[in-house]
Amino acid sequence: MTVAARIPFNALKPGVDAIRGELDAAIARVLDSGWFLMGPELQRFERDFAAYHAAHRHAVGVGSGTDAIRIGLQALGIQPGDEVLVPSNAGVPPVAATVAAGAVPVFCDADPLTHGIAPAEIARLRTDRTRAVLAVHLYGQPAAIQDIVAAAGDLSVLEDCAQAHGARVNGQRVGTFGKAAAFSFYPTKNLGALGDGGAVLSKDPEVAERARLLRMYGWRQRYLSEEHSTVSRLDELQAAILTVKLAHLDGWNTTRQRLATRYRASLSDLVDVLPPDGVFHLFVIRTPQRDALKAFLADRGVGTDIHYPYPVHLQQPYAHFARGPLPDTERLAREILSLPLYPELSETDVDYVAHQVRAFFGA
Ligand SMILES: *Cc1c(COP(=O)(O)O)cnc(C)c1O
Repeated sequence: MTVAARIPFNALKPGVDAIRGELDAAIARVLDSGWFLMGPELQRFERDFAAYHAAHRHAVGVGSGTDAIRIGLQALGIQPGDEVLVPSNAGVPPVAATVAAGAVPVFCDADPLTHGIAPAEIARLRTDRTRAVLAVHLYGQPAAIQDIVAAAGDLSVLEDCAQAHGARVNGQRVGTFGKAAAFSFYPTKNLGALGDGGAVLSKDPEVAERARLLRMYGWRQRYLSEEHSTVSRLDELQAAILTVKLAHLDGWNTTRQRLATRYRASLSDLVDVLPPDGVFHLFVIRTPQRDALKAFLADRGVGTDIHYPYPVHLQQPYAHFARGPLPDTERLAREILSLPLYPELSETDVDYVAHQVRAFFGA
């Protein structure tokens, strides 16, 4: 029997309550303006989000992270039938977006330390049809992005930063290493809207300009399509909310890192834990006894989750793209477990969870 979670895996309301006044003011500003799409709030958020990543970057708000990946790939010139190297351990969205762009996903095995694409997979799997690498920074942990960019050579690298807003590699923010980057503002992400949202980021003004066309019918001029595209917009309410929340992002990430350090200190002798250098969208541990541990924690009121239980190359709609087994990805899927981690979690909560994990191992 599972008892009601004493510590739920995630909780969004405390984060809203903590900045409720600022959110109410932003929402009121949009309601008072009478302007709900493609207006000043979007422009302001795009400017602030680009500046957060260094002043010369261009940000283009879109309707979701999945759309940001699709539009990002298309803006990089990916054509139907082009092959894109993708991870299989990062959930369905990056793969679904690649297929939606008309491209052929080629699954890469994961590096068990960073959980990103193992850089050696690029040379193993590229063919003369390969055009791009979709590098996901999973769990807030930067992938080996410099090695990936080096191994990619003339292939375009699109970074999927949906779980890693604000993470840095040698002081440089993720999303600025590849030719372009895609972000999600799904509510649970480190930077989350109160609904759907996403953005494409690029230092290349031409890539950004193409993303702008692709997010709305291929229009540069209203009602006149330059190329076929459907529509995917970031609305004014979400943009205003994200502008408020962006100012808190670094603080929230610091809190996530502090809580993760606490987990690491009490658990790293028992289970594999993530390296310390990410922004801890999730706190993921690894143990061959994962299923028993998950049930044990549920019995003690601790909510957990698995990100992700089903490698995408083994899922029915995508299995025909698989070019063989991915041993590290398949093993990780059996061993990973995500513990509760969000900025409003207290140190007492972390200690309780860590204590229960230690109890499971008889430690
Ligand atoms: C959340 C997520 C997405 C998709 O974002 P949506 O906004 O939900 O479409 C893409 N990639 C990764 C790695 C994600 O975690």
